[in-house]
Amino acid sequence: MPDSVRLAERPIPEPGAGELLVRVICCGVCRTDLHLAEGDLPPRAPRITPGHEVVGEVVATGPGATRFHAGDRVGVAWLAGTDGTCAYCRAGKENLCPASVYTGWDRHGGYAEYLTAADAFVHALPAGFSDAELAPLLCAGIIGYRALRRAEVPPGGTLGIWGFGGSAHLAAQIAMGQGAAVHVFTRAPAARELALSLGVASAQDSFDPTPVPLDSAIIFAPVGTMVPAALAALGRGGTCAIAGIYLTDIPSLNYERHLFQERTLRSVTANTRGDAAEFLTLAERLRIKVTTTPYSFDQAGQALADLAADRVHGAAVLSM
Ligand SMILES: [Zn+2]
Ligand SMILES: [Zn+2]
Repeated sequence: MPDSVRLAERPIPEPGAGELLVRVICCGVCRTDLHLAEGDLPPRAPRITPGHEVVGEVVATGPGATRFHAGDRVGVAWLAGTDGTCAYCRAGKENLCPASVYTGWDRHGGYAEYLTAADAFVHALPAGFSDAELAPLLCAGIIGYRALRRAEVPPGGTLGIWGFGGSAHLAAQIAMGQGAAVHVFTRAPAARELALSLGVASAQDSFDPTPVPLDSAIIFAPVGTMVPAALAALGRGGTCAIAGIYLTDIPSLNYERHLFQERTLRSVTANTRGDAAEFLTLAERLRIKVTTTPYSFDQAGQALADLAADRVHGAAVLSM
């Protein structure tokens, strides 16, 4: 169990200008929390509370916060703030803002009873989902959706997905809802079963050969050795997107086998608020099924350990 996650007593924070005070109802456990707990990602500030898939209720608003009101049910996600003025922000690429800050990395997150969040970066929630189902939509869902967009699946195309956890099981359903045939590559038998139950075209082990050449691929597992496997499975002109914030080293690539014929390899970095709004609208419209494994907030360390060991079915969610 990651011993860097410890219970602490903190006073209820005060919402500053443009901020909301949110009472946490539940909070999803994302792989990024694990990378932070295990030190794969360096801390941005000391003793930060993790958690960036927060479903909560607004209990107070700071000066100038006008989008939400006390009693509103809201979502607090990974992207917590940008400068709004740099060239990336002005070009609609706020996910690349060098001054961006993140919930549970720069700011205290949702493994807590309360948190504050910038009103402008808080999300309204779609209808038709329980609180626990909403939580993983807020990072796993949104980032998976950006990865899907970055993978540029052509209409009616084939998509390969490497790793099948919280994010992948949501992105797969959006892809299928938009007409793609999805092929899943994962070492976990339970994840292959979940994939098949959701209607994917095939599910096999991580390094099994692909049943068909793929137009697009998304790598959700933080495993660099999957990159050449996914690139080799692409057809001509195919695109591979790496969804995670962290990846182990990629082995050396062979130009002929992995890149020639205009195959493209690209990363995915956070998301814009536009990605979030689009995804949450699509999740409601396509009625995607969210698979969750419940934990109490006291079990946060256990949830992270289970995630590290591939023992979580769908997405882990901490609830009161
Ligand atoms: Zn910026
Ligand atoms: Zn996340």
